[in-house]
Amino acid sequence: MRRIILGLIAATVLIGVAWMIYRLPGTVTAEIGPYSVAAASPVAALAVIVVAVAFYLVVRLIGFVVFLPRRLRRRRLMRNRRVGDIAVTRALVALAAGDTGDARREASRARRLLGDTPQTLLLAAEAGRLAGREDEAEAAFRQLSAQPDAAFLGLRGLLRQAMEKENWAEASALARQAEAAHPAAVWLRKERAALAIRTENWVDALHLADADAPKAALAAAAAGQATNPVQGIRLAKQAWKEDRALPAAALAYAQKLRADGRENRAQTILRESWNAAPHPDIALSFMEKLPDGPSRYAAAKRLTKSNAREVESRMVLARTALEAGQLDDARFHAEAARALGLNQRRLWLLLADIAEAEGGDTETGRLAQRDALRHAANAEPDPSWRCAACSAPSPDWKPVCAACGKTGTLRWGTNPARVSAILAPQTAA
Ligand SMILES: [Zn+2]
Repeated sequence: MRRIILGLIAATVLIGVAWMIYRLPGTVTAEIGPYSVAAASPVAALAVIVVAVAFYLVVRLIGFVVFLPRRLRRRRLMRNRRVGDIAVTRALVALAAGDTGDARREASRARRLLGDTPQTLLLAAEAGRLAGREDEAEAAFRQLSAQPDAAFLGLRGLLRQAMEKENWAEASALARQAEAAHPAAVWLRKERAALAIRTENWVDALHLADADAPKAALAAAAAGQATNPVQGIRLAKQAWKEDRALPAAALAYAQKLRADGRENRAQTILRESWNAAPHPDIALSFMEKLPDGPSRYAAAKRLTKSNAREVESRMVLARTALEAGQLDDARFHAEAARALGLNQRRLWLLLADIAEAEGGDTETGRLAQRDALRHAANAEPDPSWRCAACSAPSPDWKPVCAACGKTGTLRWGTNPARVSAILAPQTAA
């Protein structure tokens, strides 16, 4: 209805204008050089209108021809954008579905249509990884890492690849670059922590460790790596405070205290750890540098004062008593260890040594020694370091299990189950 009204108004105005032109009085004369043209005013007005319309149409035509290539280019770009966006969506779906062929094809199409944008490069890299084409993925990640706004994404991909290839030097360099590109990335902190553990950089590993990490093991290992004495003693103290039952922590702390001239404090630390979880290495460290058997036996008595009835205390007392020539004491403590249920090779070898010392070069002595050695052959194995996660043995304590790579899982005992049974009551005490 509105259109009809507007149409009627326009037609009325048009008729009015036409009527006014038709009614224009007089003539119009134009002189161009020797030529003279005369026309009635309505005809001249009509001619002016026709010329103006023709001029307008010519200008429009020239504009259309001049801007045609640009318009065509823009139209092609818009089409590429539309089809490229569809390819990006399809590549994402294929990646989510694990369809390697489709993901690579669509990512490559998206890259062709949209160019090397951060999105298309990331898609191409992830599609390459999914298809097992690491070189293809690496090339895309490298291009991505050169883009100022998306460098972190490229570095992240390259770092992941370097860690999978166990190329630790390159991984460390990439981690530093990624840190510079995005300092607060939580993911990066975890990767750097894992990297520090793999490269045995314990100071960094402890610094980057999260709340659940076995900090005692990391700090004990870090203390051994510290070049600065103050830092060394601080790390060793941290390890010992975190876990007094970890022999490595007590040994590291005692060693640092001794290096600082604090022998009494070192002995206190070793005694506390012996009470928490006795380990032969703690006894060895406690008696370190003592010149003879009697002084070592006296030191063993001081060390085991609070838990003299424990199996490990009995063993260290028996061994040092034998060294001191106190054969009755040695026999007493060794038999007490046996009465506690200990049936390990080390006990029977100790009993053989005691029998040899007791009997001398006599038939009775030789018989007793042979009997102990026969028992040793059939005894249970001695305790050793073993991973609580994968049960793999280790010749000595390490912060990380060499077999499964887990941190802080090495336990001392005949097997992990037995270790916890032996250690639990003493740790509680
Ligand atoms: Zn393991």
